[in-house]
Amino acid sequence: MRSGRLQLVLLAVWAATLAVALGVFAQTPQVQTPQAQTPLVQTPQVQTPQVQTPQVQTPQVIHTDHGPNSSEAQKAHYVVLVSLDGFRWDYAKRYGAMHLLALGKRGAIAPQGMIPSYPSLTFPNHYAIVTGLYPEHNGLVRNNFYDPARQAAGELATYSIVNPAAVTDGSWYSGTPLWSLAESQGMRTACLFWPGSEAEIAGERPTDYLKFDDRVDQFARIDQVLAWLKQPAETRPHFITLYYSDVDHAGHQFGPDAPETKAAVLKVDALVGKLQIALAATHLPIDLIVVSDHGMTKIQGDWITLDQFAGLANFETVGLLLYGKTEEDRARVYNQLKHASDKFQVYRLKDVPAGLHYSQNPREGDPVVVPTGPYAIRAHGPGLNPDGTAKPDRAPEAGSHGFDPATMPEMKASFFAAGPDILPGRTVAPFENVNLYPWIAHILGLTAPKSDGDLNILAGTLRDNGETANQ
Ligand SMILES: [Zn+2]
Ligand SMILES: [Zn+2]
Repeated sequence: MRSGRLQLVLLAVWAATLAVALGVFAQTPQVQTPQAQTPLVQTPQVQTPQVQTPQVQTPQVIHTDHGPNSSEAQKAHYVVLVSLDGFRWDYAKRYGAMHLLALGKRGAIAPQGMIPSYPSLTFPNHYAIVTGLYPEHNGLVRNNFYDPARQAAGELATYSIVNPAAVTDGSWYSGTPLWSLAESQGMRTACLFWPGSEAEIAGERPTDYLKFDDRVDQFARIDQVLAWLKQPAETRPHFITLYYSDVDHAGHQFGPDAPETKAAVLKVDALVGKLQIALAATHLPIDLIVVSDHGMTKIQGDWITLDQFAGLANFETVGLLLYGKTEEDRARVYNQLKHASDKFQVYRLKDVPAGLHYSQNPREGDPVVVPTGPYAIRAHGPGLNPDGTAKPDRAPEAGSHGFDPATMPEMKASFFAAGPDILPGRTVAPFENVNLYPWIAHILGLTAPKSDGDLNILAGTLRDNGETANQ
């Protein structure tokens, strides 16, 4: 039992490391099923010397009939929410993303960026955007983490973005994501990938969603959005999500300054341009909102491995998260790490600075290690094989994220939006991404629950100044 748990945690750590390395946001088939037909897996029997063309998957929509839009919902406008993973706040201007810049000019833009929640990672921030809750309130405190209370209850205790059993289990998630909010108020929704969209949360699911598969063709994703919008008004979804990972992948592999990253920026910019034209052709009142989850920075130096400074034998660990089993252990490791390095700060959980919103959830561990710069930090190295030999280590990636946006502006994300509800030519100062939730709910005419976001922050971008009372 004990060693089974340990193995599970080790497996999760291994999978998490791999997932971060791949820069993906959900289950990577090559982690879960080595035989899956991903373009990364080379089948030895293939003899042809040509470069293999990646296998393209068509979107597999999972549909649940939730009945028609209510008559009230049918009168509402439409929101297409696009995430460009890892699209740093300054990429559009720096690399000449003309379609995104034009979108921002026709509507609203945050020229100095949007502020991600800490930690500036993919799942915590995608889910903060759709719930208006900081990670410690929305439940996803990192992409991979441990939950001592679930352990005590005998439930699956490690959330990992590469474990479908966790990703699809609504009990991990708090808050009411926009699709659940809409569905509960009689409005149909559809998600073409978004963290949380594969689980039932707050008693609801999107009417249509897909299991995450990044091999789904990029143009087919747009075609799917259009197919949804071509449905009759009774069933046509009013809230639709769309996701592209390219810029994040390139940023991890090559770094934010690389020509490959510029190429990825221009590629997704072209996709947004194509999407925009297609949306206009529907003649529906659609607000197009394009955001990212976080930025990207060049990683400096080699791994910093915490078990070189502190005895972690009694700890559960996931990535750089440390879960001490006793108060004595927690205090000891805090003291051991306190002056160990200027590359990170360590806090007891309750003492984590308020601005990080990272001091209240046991999933955050205790003590909490916060990098002070672009450093790759982990609790343990790769460890040993069963035969006692050392497993091979790998260098940190060229680029990464997850750091405090208050001290590292490279973590800032992007925001562009235009449509019938949004005033043209609006520029907004950097704002926290949790404020998107009440703003999008308002555009859709939904009544939003209290969150960490505030409609007033972005109300000035709206034609009605955020003043129309929603039913
Ligand atoms: Zn990433
Ligand atoms: Zn991301």
